Amino acid sequence: MSGSAISMAVGEPGGPLTPTAVPTRRPAGGAVRVSVMASGVCNADIGTAASRNPATGFPIVPGHEVAGVIAELGDQVEGWSVGDRVAVGWFGGSCGRCDRCRTGDVVHCPERRVPGLSYPGGWAESITVPADALARVPAGLDFFEAAPFGCAGVTTFNAVRESRRATA
Ligand SMILES: [Zn+2]
Ligand SMILES: [Zn+2]
Repeated sequence: MSGSAISMAVGEPGGPLTPTAVPTRRPAGGAVRVSVMASGVCNADIGTAASRNPATGFPIVPGHEVAGVIAELGDQVEGWSVGDRVAVGWFGGSCGRCDRCRTGDVVHCPERRVPGLSYPGGWAESITVPADALARVPAGLDFFEAAPFGCAGVTTFNAVRESRRATA
């Protein structure tokens, strides 16, 4: 499938969001392109937009609380199909091989990736992410409710989980 999708891009540190048409390309091996249905606004996105020296250069597209539908699969992607309902959060991929990854602590992987910081984020009609960044969205959960789970939701969930562990 070819075409283009609108991304809300920031062209300079703290600059305005500008609708920008970006060509949609077939995802690379191991990656998936998602049609975005909902995208949260997080305080960390303000930092992304204000960045003076973003890793990917300008323009940047913030957004790491994303929910949508898989539009296209790259090669070597298993377990996912076009049309699947998915979410992408702050955890935007990791190496899968380092000590951190192998103990489940993917957030501290030295090669971890974050949507908006490591690659164009979800303030867009389309986002392309590593397949290991996907979480399945259950049928009964609205996209607008699912989107913030990947950042704000997991932050609060982890606090509850760790507090139980501490008192057990
Ligand atoms: Zn966030
Ligand atoms: Zn790793």
